Amino acid sequence: MSNTAPGRHFLQIPGPTNVPDRVLRAIDMPTIDHRGPTFKALGERVLSGIRAIFQTEQPVVIYPASGTGAWEAALVNTLSPGDLVLMYESGHFASLWKKLAEKLGLKTEFIAGDWRRAADPDAIAERLQADGEKRIKAVCVVHNETSTGCVAPIGAVRAAIDRVGHPALLMVDTISSLGSIDYRHDEWGVDVTVGGSQKGLMLPPGLSFNAISQKALAASEGATLPRSYWDWQEMLGPNAKGFFPYTPSTNLLYGLDVAIEMLLGQGLDRVFARHARHGEATRRAVGAWGLEVLCLDPGQYSGSLTAVVMPEGHDADRFRQVVLDHYDMSLGAGLGRLSGTVFRIGHLGDFNDLMLMGTLAGVEMGLARAGVPHRPEGVRAAMDFLSER
Ligand SMILES: *Cc1c(COP(=O)(O)O)cnc(C)c1O
Repeated sequence: MSNTAPGRHFLQIPGPTNVPDRVLRAIDMPTIDHRGPTFKALGERVLSGIRAIFQTEQPVVIYPASGTGAWEAALVNTLSPGDLVLMYESGHFASLWKKLAEKLGLKTEFIAGDWRRAADPDAIAERLQADGEKRIKAVCVVHNETSTGCVAPIGAVRAAIDRVGHPALLMVDTISSLGSIDYRHDEWGVDVTVGGSQKGLMLPPGLSFNAISQKALAASEGATLPRSYWDWQEMLGPNAKGFFPYTPSTNLLYGLDVAIEMLLGQGLDRVFARHARHGEATRRAVGAWGLEVLCLDPGQYSGSLTAVVMPEGHDADRFRQVVLDHYDMSLGAGLGRLSGTVFRIGHLGDFNDLMLMGTLAGVEMGLARAGVPHRPEGVRAAMDFLSER
């Protein structure tokens, strides 16, 4: 649809997400001197406030980059050429992170997964147990696998690593769970947490994060992969005074300041509960339509998105096109090996009950219009759930 279309576009992909008007207005301000006193106050506020979102007291570095940059930063700051990294094949994003690691000159090993379940702590423990020589230097796990809608139990992964007494660093991608699904960098003993701005944080794309443990910081001193732009040490010095070593994304930081205030003002517990509830309502709709949720383990269902399996013989991308053409709504595509067979409903970020009902109505009308076999009862099922007392 052209940009003269009436009403609001529904951006229901699992990131980038809808940006609240308050954040848009905050960004729409003159750029200031990033070495001046006004910036210093902003820098100090966001660098401190973002720690609450990661549930950490440790440093969080903010890069003017998409999430992929923060993936790279986590690896180049802590590892050396040829180091072995254990990763879990939870889906498309785990696969991309693995490819990135290989391009950097790391050795990688995948624990094979079926793209319908999240990382399995027992399988990780078993592999680490077999690593008598401690060749594995890091374990990398995606918390909320955005391609499948399955959430990994990070606390249990930590416990599994501790159980076998393995010294590997634990690195976690929370790009699509930060600010939407409970995540505890300190309590779960994560060494590097990777985050991004454009999903649960309700910002445009362009900022990404590394939350860093003391153990990761110590590892960075001996790590020899080449790094310059991503170097934590270059960041942490100026960050201590609210500044950055190079020009930060000043206007996105205005937005981050407001987004942090909104999330903490709502209360993180409430934010997580809202997302979980919208996930449940969405799954009830999917079930009532007679369609299948991709994630096979109910204990791993995601509060930020739901991936839906298309019935045999129906193309998910054609269906998404029908929804876009007729209802001006963007749904997420199936990624990688799920291309064409899955579509994804994003229900994260700046979102409420009526926006979800609009979204589900758009899906249900789209199913009818595209001739996809279904029962037209999903909207009703979600509505019943959301109006339960
Ligand atoms: C979106 C996403 C990424 C990629 O981030 P970019 O900002 O596109 O670089 C990586 N991992 C997960 C889990 C994501 O959801």
